[in-house]
Order: sequence, then C-alpha cells, then structure tokens
Amino acid sequence: MMNRCPYRVGLGHDTHRLELGRPLILGGVRIEHPRGLAGHSDADVVLHALTDAMLGAAGLGDIGESYPDDDPRWAQANSTRFLRETMNRLKSLGWVTVNVDVTILAQEPKLGPLKTRIRESLASLLELDETNVNVKAKTGERVGHIGRAEAIACLAIVLLARSEEPLGNSSSF
Ligand code: MG
Repeated sequence: MMNRCPYRVGLGHDTHRLELGRPLILGGVRIEHPRGLAGHSDADVVLHALTDAMLGAAGLGDIGESYPDDDPRWAQANSTRFLRETMNRLKSLGWVTVNVDVTILAQEPKLGPLKTRIRESLASLLELDETNVNVKAKTGERVGHIGRAEAIACLAIVLLARSEEPLGNSSSF
C-alpha cells in the first residue's frame, strides 16, 4: 500500500575520531583547534549525520551506500557536496526540508560559543530560515570516547514534507 503521508522523518548519527594534524570542520565551519576529525573525506561529522537523516527520511538508504569511504572520488571530499547532492535528489523526488535539529557531542573544543556559527552555516547550506535549524551541544561528561575527547559524534533529525509542486517523479509517495 502506498504511503500518502505528506511528511517523513529521518534520523542520522555519525562518529569520527579526533586526531592531531587534521582540520576540524563542523557543519561546514572550519574551527581552530589542535586536533581535527580523521576520515576519508573532510570528516565533517555534522554534515554526515545530517545527510544520513535526509537520506533516511526519503527512504534512500545511508550515506555509505551513496558515498562509500573506500571510493577514491571522496578522498578529502568537502562534505557540503554530499549534503547538496542529497538535497537535489530529495527535491527531484518532490520533498522539501521543513526543519532540522542537530546535537553535537564533543568534550572539546567548547562548542557553546560556536553553535551560532554552525547554525548559520547549516541554514545557509540547507537554504532554510535559521528558525528552522537548531544546533545543540553536549559534552561527554568526561566518560566514554566522547568524554575522553577521543571522538566527536553527532545526532541529526530531519522532517521532510511533500513539496506542492514536485519537480520529478513522485509515484513512490
Ligand atoms: Mg562520517
């Protein structure tokens, strides 16, 4: 039976290890810090979680299927590309993003002063008003891999709605 519901929700999660000598990029924002996130691409854990949430909401699998981390095309890739391409896929299927909510889990650096910049960056990338983009930050309470500052993780949730004028084939709704 076809799902005629005009809304879909999607959840995303990602973790990357902190490593000396790597750039730290969160939500498309370059952050000055002695350590950055290790990964095949630029390891932007926020954009990876967000891309996964969008893919999940649209029933399109996960980021690893679309951008395998053993594919040389994505070596050092700017993760804004993953998000933008995913947004275009969703648009062509007749989906628009209603709002996103993101929680970044990091013991260091202190994200409180950076949340506004990350929110502005995400709103700009997603072409959304900032009121529809929320960024929260939590430490790991000094326990576990987050609390020992060995890694940064991110949780993201996205709500999609059917656009009034689908740009492509919407027969899967
Ligand atoms: Mg990742």
